[in-house]
Amino acid sequence: MNNSREKIAKYKKQQDAEVLAHYYQPEEIQDIADFVGYSEELNQRALKSRAQILLLCGVNFMAQNAKIVAPDKRIIIPEIMADCPMVKKANLQCLNEMREKHPQAAVVSFINSSAEVKAESDICCTANNALKIINSLSQSEIILVPNKNLGEYISQKTKKKIYSCAHPCPTHNEVTIDDLKRIKKQYADAPILVNLDCRAEVREKADFVGDPDQIIKYANSSKAKKMIIGAERGLLFRLKRQNPRKRFYLLSPHLICQSMKINNLYKTSQALENLEIEVKIDEYIRLKAEHALKKMKYYEKLH
Ligand code: SF4
Repeated sequence: MNNSREKIAKYKKQQDAEVLAHYYQPEEIQDIADFVGYSEELNQRALKSRAQILLLCGVNFMAQNAKIVAPDKRIIIPEIMADCPMVKKANLQCLNEMREKHPQAAVVSFINSSAEVKAESDICCTANNALKIINSLSQSEIILVPNKNLGEYISQKTKKKIYSCAHPCPTHNEVTIDDLKRIKKQYADAPILVNLDCRAEVREKADFVGDPDQIIKYANSSKAKKMIIGAERGLLFRLKRQNPRKRFYLLSPHLICQSMKINNLYKTSQALENLEIEVKIDEYIRLKAEHALKKMKYYEKLH
């Protein structure tokens, strides 16, 4: 393992490369990364980074996002198989079927979607700004892709008619009320913080619901010394690092995303050495996807 760490440091310097990692990556990768964040933060970093080569450790749509916003940079990934199963199912075909059923609806895609789906969207959104974006659109009907549970959560907060995709995040969807009751028996006084991608019945019983960034902010400012986390296990690494005196417990043993854990230090060092697995997007699709992302930024400032 030390060998891989040394090689990563050497190749980063040699190649003028930066390693960007998502919060759900294995701890060893978060540990060597130059930057760790959630999807939108990774986009911002890709845009601002001075490095010419970015190694993106996450799942494929995140690397596509980096290529969309920073087309002049080489975006490298450690493993081609790191595909999000939800994004794979909530694909262009799925979107087209929804559009056929609801032709009058605007299409809003979360940034956790493929480049192809973004390219066919009227606008993108994040979990943070989804409500603002949706409410500011002129259409009263919205197709919201790809996260089913997140879509349903947003639909409860707007008067507009939301048509959500049928595909939840399989990792967060595994968390059940029984998991919650079981862990609450062990740590009765610990508040429960859950990811927006969890099922409605789990969200309703939680003390706090948010995206990874909001969970981190809540945990950092909370006076509680113990907290139960209903988000992918990788988030615990960041929470523990930022709060060494607090204790964090994973709500369910199922909160491990296999697609995120497919990367490791060896693959990371190989990717930096060989620069073989490079993300490419058809320029027509990239431009359309970039337009949907830029429109999100414009609406965010406007409203
Ligand atoms: Fe996809 Fe869920 Fe894994 Fe994120 S945690 S990559 S949404 S399966």
